[in-house]
Amino acid sequence: MSALSDKPVRLYDTTLRDGTQGEGFQLSLLDKLRIAERLDAFGIDYIEGGWPGSNPKDVEFFQEAKKLKLSHAKLAAFGSTRRADTPVEQDPQVKLLLDAETPVVTIFGKSWEMQVTEVLRTTPEENRAMIRDTVAYLKQHGREVVYDAEHFFDGYKDSPGHALGSLQAAAEGGADCLVLCDTNGGTLPEEVMEICAIVRARIPQVPVGIHTHNDCELGVANAVAAVRGGAVQVQGTINGYGERTGNCNLTSVIPILQLKMDMEVVPDLTKLRELSYFVDDVSNNPHFARAAFVGRTAFAHKGGMHVNAVQKLARSYEHIVPQAVGNEQNILVSELSGQSNILIKAEQLGIPLDKGSAEAKAVLQKVKELENEGYSFEAAGGSLELLIRRELGRYEKTFDLKEFHTSFRQYRDGHDPVCEATVKLYVGEVPKYTVAEGRGVVNALDKALRGALEPFYPEISEVSLVDYKVRIIDSHDATAAKTRVLIVSTNGEENWGTVGVSENIIEASWIALVDGIDLFLQRHRGV
Ligand SMILES: [Zn+2]
Repeated sequence: MSALSDKPVRLYDTTLRDGTQGEGFQLSLLDKLRIAERLDAFGIDYIEGGWPGSNPKDVEFFQEAKKLKLSHAKLAAFGSTRRADTPVEQDPQVKLLLDAETPVVTIFGKSWEMQVTEVLRTTPEENRAMIRDTVAYLKQHGREVVYDAEHFFDGYKDSPGHALGSLQAAAEGGADCLVLCDTNGGTLPEEVMEICAIVRARIPQVPVGIHTHNDCELGVANAVAAVRGGAVQVQGTINGYGERTGNCNLTSVIPILQLKMDMEVVPDLTKLRELSYFVDDVSNNPHFARAAFVGRTAFAHKGGMHVNAVQKLARSYEHIVPQAVGNEQNILVSELSGQSNILIKAEQLGIPLDKGSAEAKAVLQKVKELENEGYSFEAAGGSLELLIRRELGRYEKTFDLKEFHTSFRQYRDGHDPVCEATVKLYVGEVPKYTVAEGRGVVNALDKALRGALEPFYPEISEVSLVDYKVRIIDSHDATAAKTRVLIVSTNGEENWGTVGVSENIIEASWIALVDGIDLFLQRHRGV
């Protein structure tokens, strides 16, 4: 293996599997694919995509994921050991794991004697055989096998011999990593460190990993303790999404390992904040302002004396340089805060801005205004690109919108309701007026807009709308809550996100829709 094996600790992301057990965290197939791509680009080593045996949607994910061009990460399918008293080759759930055709398979098994006798209702011997057989069978099929020892710490405290025996069975089967799980999230860091070190000493031939939950707000601390105890794989989720109080938050563990413990686990930590916001936006969740490292207020200073001190010497009230994780110092009076992120974004878009230049200031000013109105550009790079293009004069008006109108028709005879949209625009001097019907407002507007533009720009037939998300934004003025709409468009090769904000959902949708088409035209024309 390449540089991968040189990493002191490997990152195993389970946002797409354990994360989706969390309330309010739902991902469509497209969302999962987009997040997987981002995790790979960020340098995550393993991406657990789902549990094919428990969810047909996950079977589909692994089908589609084969088309992803991952540059670094390995995909893992998750499942359980074979059932009691069933030969492993006849277990349908194990078959689904192989059918996922991932390089890595992660299976979980029981470590806690009580769980074996009371829940599985089988014997410790059969439990060990279930673990050993399943690991060995997956190894025979060429998979890298990660063994998740469910309830390991509780099981160990109850009966060390039984818990270690179950791990030993996985080692005998040929497991590549033994992951100790604090499934109930109730273990303390010193226990985690001690028990990890005991496992390392007793089964030195197989590397150990850690999977923790945040029920005592110790998910991150326990993962760090495990690394101190010799663990070389850390499992968790972006922003700590997961059932109950969530999983170990990778967004915190990663900078701790890299900045505080001197372990290089990702190539470019400055992308951390962006990844955190991306997952929030794609899952349609609000950003947690006080999140460690990546939160909006993580490096915000308000008190006059603190502001004065950090301006003289940032270290006086900041534990790290905010830019190291892609965040920034936010002094509430500073007009320059936010600049670095926009400059980085522009650079990524291939239209670099000079720091301090009039253009950079103008772009920044515009972004700030829009953010105050409720815009967020983290998952809407397309709209940000348009904004920068406009400010830099790398924009050519391709059409001029005059008006749009929508209506909704409900029938009394059981016929499906129909939305109708009209669009009036000019291409140069030529007026165009179109009407279209659709299944919903956005669908109708999309059709009408395309209908008007296609005679002039036939290339837009390549573009289609693949995702549409609506979020009501918290407003100080409760009478006028705003709506933010995120749209993802594609031309079959790449996706781009655009955003619209308004008190009116139709207008917000319209803004995002128009940006999606406009950006494609700008790029296509090579302005
Ligand atoms: Zn878990």
